[in-house]
Amino acid sequence: MKTLRQAVQEAQEKKVAIGHFNISNLEGFWGVVRAAQNLSLPVIIGLSEGERDFVGVRQARALVTSLQEEGVQVYLNADHTYSFDRVKEVIDAGYDSVIFDGAKLSFEENIIQTKKCVEYARASGRDVLVEAELGYIGTSSKVLDEIPEGVLLGEESLTDPAKAKDFVEKTGIDMLAPAVGNFHGMLRSGVDPKLNIERVGAIALATGVPLVLHGGSGNSQDDFTGSIAAGIAIVHINTEIRVAYKQGLTKGLSENPDEVAPYKFLKPAMSAVQEVVEKKLRFFNNL
Ligand SMILES: [Zn+2]
Repeated sequence: MKTLRQAVQEAQEKKVAIGHFNISNLEGFWGVVRAAQNLSLPVIIGLSEGERDFVGVRQARALVTSLQEEGVQVYLNADHTYSFDRVKEVIDAGYDSVIFDGAKLSFEENIIQTKKCVEYARASGRDVLVEAELGYIGTSSKVLDEIPEGVLLGEESLTDPAKAKDFVEKTGIDMLAPAVGNFHGMLRSGVDPKLNIERVGAIALATGVPLVLHGGSGNSQDDFTGSIAAGIAIVHINTEIRVAYKQGLTKGLSENPDEVAPYKFLKPAMSAVQEVVEKKLRFFNNL
């Protein structure tokens, strides 16, 4: 099977993006995997620190490995990881990629910490991709009444291409998550402000590394198509599948109040996740 690095490269050549979907449990996992299998597309399963603590760091690896052994093109990413120790933990556990999130650190400190993570990944003997973040895009994947505090969408607040180039050169990261008008979570209205596609292109050109769009929930198909053409190779979706999961679960419970078999009342939750993932994968792959 192709490595994640090869899969990302292939996506860039085809001008499509690989979908990255977070999971908290087995229903979410199967929802994502079945969607990808239905469309015969590669997919990345992501788990934040909190999601990893719930599922189990090594247990998530075992789940994804079991599918890879069956020839399914699924990869495993440690989403937003805030300390070197937790980066080390997932590299040791065999994850395909890890995101060190030093967006709240000073530029200099972000470089020092990110570089340490890259060095550890290189010394692992495996091809582990390290992604880092430059520019603040908020932290929580939930439904929001307003744009999160600290996230500014003016041109001057977005990731600066020259600074991004410097950051990539000094850290040696494989992929960069920029702030280009995106933020984690989605607005209750369901429509997030437009992305700055021009800035995506400028950062991609300056850095030469694949870019990762975080906080894709709430963004439009036009935003995806434009930003993917400009250099986005991976798109993260979490909030929308969390919302779908909860709605599916509520449906499963309310429609069968006497049902006590979890695998029965949880099915609508899994299907709801699958539906959203399929829809997003079609967007990312121009299907
Ligand atoms: Zn993110």
